[in-house]
Order: sequence, then structure tokens, then C-alpha cells
Amino acid sequence: MKKRSLCVALISAAFSVLALSFSFPFLSLTLRLSAMLMLALLLFVFFKVWLRVNLPTRIFFGLLLGAVFGLLWGEQAAVIKPLGTAFIRLIKMIVVPLIFASLVVGAASLGDIKKVGRVGLKTLAYFLVSTVFSIFLGLLLANTLRPGGSLPLEIRQDLLANYQQSAEQTLQKSGVQSYTEILLEIIPENPIQSMSQGHILQIIFFALIMGIAIATLDPVQMEPVRGFFHGINEIMAKIVHGVIQLAPFGVFALIAAVVGTFGASILLALFRYALVVIVGQIILLLIYPLIVGAFTGMRFGDFIRGLRPAQLIAFSTSSSSATLPVTIQCNEENLGVKNDIASFVLPLGATINMDGTALFQAISALFIAQVYGIELNLSAQLMLVVTAVLASIGTAGAPGVGILMLVIILKQLGIPLEGIALILGVERILDMFRTMVNITSDSAAAVMIAASEKELSIPGQIP
Ligand code: ASP
Repeated sequence: MKKRSLCVALISAAFSVLALSFSFPFLSLTLRLSAMLMLALLLFVFFKVWLRVNLPTRIFFGLLLGAVFGLLWGEQAAVIKPLGTAFIRLIKMIVVPLIFASLVVGAASLGDIKKVGRVGLKTLAYFLVSTVFSIFLGLLLANTLRPGGSLPLEIRQDLLANYQQSAEQTLQKSGVQSYTEILLEIIPENPIQSMSQGHILQIIFFALIMGIAIATLDPVQMEPVRGFFHGINEIMAKIVHGVIQLAPFGVFALIAAVVGTFGASILLALFRYALVVIVGQIILLLIYPLIVGAFTGMRFGDFIRGLRPAQLIAFSTSSSSATLPVTIQCNEENLGVKNDIASFVLPLGATINMDGTALFQAISALFIAQVYGIELNLSAQLMLVVTAVLASIGTAGAPGVGILMLVIILKQLGIPLEGIALILGVERILDMFRTMVNITSDSAAAVMIAASEKELSIPGQIP
């Protein structure tokens, strides 16, 4: 027997001995022994199959099984949520050191400041165009399918009454900053504090400046510094590899908890609205690989397959920032994006590029307006485009932030703020979809920008 099979057999046996020696003490010894044998056998087969399938498939199974367990257990499924939270904390633990080290290394090897500027401009241009496109798509869907036009009055009253309290809390949390304040905050006063608070934009800013400074200094003198950051980068990548193996279990727990605590009735009440948002997100998910393919020649399936682990993790964590280490890993190892581009475009994208969120905000603003019988004319909808661009930029890559920023849009357009209560019930589910779109858009940017800088080695193609 191979060494791995022996290990699997031993672990399975140990599990079953442990499980059955502590439970069913009323059973006879023979019965317990045969149950142990059966369980060990079952576990052995399970682990053997488990080790044979690849990681994305395992994560997908985790997600599927999680949904089934959530449905069966109902609210009790929340007990396993800590398992999912532990997984999120493990990836989050890597975010700050990983993006700092990889950006310093990246900027130092981007070499000249001209190249940093060029890549920066391309990145911002892509982010702007893709966000505006997503908002237009949202407006198109909401204007033609009119999800708010047919919400029955009693459902509307129920929703407003049931979610009034959470809506008030949401409104309180959405403290509005001026745009100058937001811009000024990119410059850190104290980089160490930025790191301890996980302020991604400030970390990016400082790391870029440091990388550029390193690039301009004497290479011999800078060698140990480069080596140090390169080393940290490698260590973090190694940790991501380890942590991601736990993804199937983390995803299982997170999804079970969401499905278990989520009332299906609310989804039915808001079916049309939720469907319009989800259809919009799926259209975006299909457009990115097409554009990437047209631009770089990368096959549709290769892009989707390469990004699948990150997409599934984004779906179950609802956090672009928490998914960031995995997004970087998928881009570098599966899609062939060079480290200096990935480490610049992806953290920036996870912080300011939110296509899925922008689409969600556009549809939701129109939905609430439609429910209240407010018709938004062309100029109001154009204003919505501008505010939604700014709001999605201001949305941090964390769960539920998109809805806080929606408040700003509603305020600007004079739509009743308590309308937030109408959609809070399906917010968590929609967040899962929009986060998946957010990281996919970031990755499309990374792949295309890498191609334009000749820093992409497409899998299966000779560079
Ligand atoms: N959860 C989203 C993200 O992390 C942000 C949002 O729309 O709430 O990308």
C-alpha cells in the first residue's frame, strides 16, 4: 500500500475508534466493533475520493453540501459558523503582509516611475469604464424588467415593518465622508497604524512609494532589502497554499450557516428583484472572460477555471478583501499574470473596483424608487450613474458595505431612505453574487493589463 493510502487508512480508523468509543455505550461490543469497521471503511473511501479530485471541485462540493446541510438543519446550522469564521480569519491574517511585501517587490521591479504611472493609469481607466458599464447594465435591466413595479402592497408593508429596525441601524452606520476627505485619507499619517488597521489604500500608497524608492537606489546596496521582501512574499504565498486547502470546510460551514438562517419566504417575496440583480451579475460574469479572450486570446474556459477557487471563496465569504490572497494566487499561478502586475492591480481592485456592487446599487435604487412610485427621469438616472460610480469606489471590500453606500445614492436622488428595509432581507444572498463579480472584474483587469505590458504567460501558450 502506498504511504498516502496508509495514512488515510490510519486516520479513518482513528476517527471511527474515537467516534464510536465515546458514543452508543449501550450497544454490544460486537456491534460497536462492526460499526467501527464500517465507519472506517466509509471514511477511507471518502478520503481516497477526496484526495483524488482537484481543489476547485472540492470547494464546490463543500459549497453544495453546505447548502444541503443548511436546508436540513435550519437555524441550528449556525453552530458550525465558527469553523467558517476561523477560515476567513486565517486568510485575512495574510492580507496585510502579503499585499505589502508583494507590492514593494512589484513596484521595485516595475523599475521606472513611468511604468508605474502607465500601469496605474490603465488600471484606473479600466476600473472606471467597467464600473460605468455595470451601472448602465443595471439601469437597462431595472428599466425594462421593472422589478419594483409589481410588489404587492401587503408585502411592501410587511417588509417595511419587519426590517425597520435593521434599516435604521444601516442608516446610522452609513456616516458620509466628503470626497476630498476620502482622497486625503489615501495618504497614511502612520504606515504602521495603517497596517494594524488593515487600511488597504494607505498600505498600497506606502508600499508603492517604498518600492519606487528602492528601484531608484543603488542595486547592490538594496539587494538585502529586495531579498527580504521577496522572502516575505514567498512565505505568504506558501501560507496561502496551506490555508486554501481548508477552503472546502470553511465554505461548507459558511454556506450552511447562511442557508440555515435565511428564510426562503423572503426570497419568494422579493423574487423578481433578486432575480433581476442575479441575472445582471451572471451577465457580467460571462462578459469578462469574453472580453479577456478577445483582448488576450485566453480561452473562456481557462479564465473561468483558473479563477474558480477565488470565485467560490468570494461567493461564500462575501468579502473581496478576505478573498484577496486567493485571487492573487489564482491570477499568478493559473492565469499567468506576473507578480508585479497582480500585486498592484488586484489589491487596488479589491478596494475600489466594485462592478457587482455598482450594478446592485443601480438596480436597487431604481427598485426602491419604483416601489414608492417615483419615476426617475433621464437626468436623475444620469446623476445616479455618477453617484453610483463614486459610491462603488467608496465601498470597502467587506460584507454588506455596498448597501451602506446605497444610502448615499438614495439620499442624492431623493428616494425615501427607509426603502432600504425593502431589500435588507435578501441582502446577504445578493452580496455573495456581487462579491464574486467584483473579484472577477479585478482579475480581468489584471490579465488584460499584464497582456498589454507583455507580462502575461497564458497557460498552454508559449510566451
Ligand atoms: N461585499 C462586497 C465585496 O467585498 C462589497 C459590497 O458590495 O458590499 O466586494
